[in-house]
Amino acid sequence: MTTVGDIRKLLDGWYPPRLAEEWDRPGLTCGDPGSRVTTIACALEATDEVVEAAVTAGTQMLVVHHPLLLRGVSSVAADTTKGRIVHRLIRAGVALMSAHTNADAAIGGVNDVLAELLGVRPEAPLEPSPAATDPAEGIGRVGLLDRPMTLRQFTDRVAERLPVTVWGVRAAGDPQSMIRRVALCSGAGDSLLDAAAASGADVYLTSDLRHHPADESLRAGGPALVDTAHWASESPWCAVVADRLAAATGLETVVIAVRTDPWTIGVHPRP
Ligand SMILES: [Zn+2]
Repeated sequence: MTTVGDIRKLLDGWYPPRLAEEWDRPGLTCGDPGSRVTTIACALEATDEVVEAAVTAGTQMLVVHHPLLLRGVSSVAADTTKGRIVHRLIRAGVALMSAHTNADAAIGGVNDVLAELLGVRPEAPLEPSPAATDPAEGIGRVGLLDRPMTLRQFTDRVAERLPVTVWGVRAAGDPQSMIRRVALCSGAGDSLLDAAAASGADVYLTSDLRHHPADESLRAGGPALVDTAHWASESPWCAVVADRLAAATGLETVVIAVRTDPWTIGVHPRP
C-alpha cells in the first residue's frame, strides 16, 4: 500500500525542502500522511477548477508547484477563496502537496526541465543555493544552446516548444544577435537580471519581466531578454513529476489538463 506519507517522502527526496527559499512554504498543505493513495494528480496550482478535475479523476493526492497557503492564514472558512479549496480537498479525501522553490533549485527540477525543453545544456545554477550540497543546485540555470542561432530564431523556438499562451512570447534586443549561451529562470525572475548579466549569457529567459528592470538591464549592456507567460515556463514540469511518480510507485498518475494561465486575451495589432 502506498500512502500520502510515502509520496511526500519521494517528493522531498527529489526536491529537498532544505533548498526552499526562506519565505516559501512548500510541503503537505492538507491530507493525512497515513491515507492510501492509488492515483495521483499533478498540476501547476490548486485552483477550484484543478481541484474539481482531480476529484473527478478519482485521485487521492494532488501535487502542485505553487503552495496554496503561502502567507500567514488565520481562517480557512469555506466562504473564502482558499478555504473553499481546502474544504473541497478534505471532503473528497484528496491530499495537497507542493514543491515550489525547492523544485526550482533541485537537480532535475523545474529549471532543468525548462532547459532541456529549450535545448540548453545546464552548466551551473544562475544563483547557487546557500543550502546546496551539490554545486548544480540553485535557482535558474546557465548553459550552452545545442546550436547557435539568432535571437529571432531562439524566440521562435521558445514559442514552439513551450505550451501556447494567448499573448505568446516576447523578446527584447537585436533580433539578429547571436545566441550561444542562455541564462534562464522559470517563473518570475527579474530579481536575477544582474546575475544573468554577470553570467555572460547572450540571452536571459524568464517570466513576468517589468518595464523598468528590463529596460535598465538592457541599457547597462545586459543580455537580450525573452519573456514568457509564468504558466508556460513552469507547467512543463507537471508531466515530468507525473512520470517520475508513476515510475517510482507503479501508481496511475494524471496531469490535470486545466490551463491555469490567468490571461485569456492577447491582441496583436501590427505596429
Ligand atoms: Zn511560479
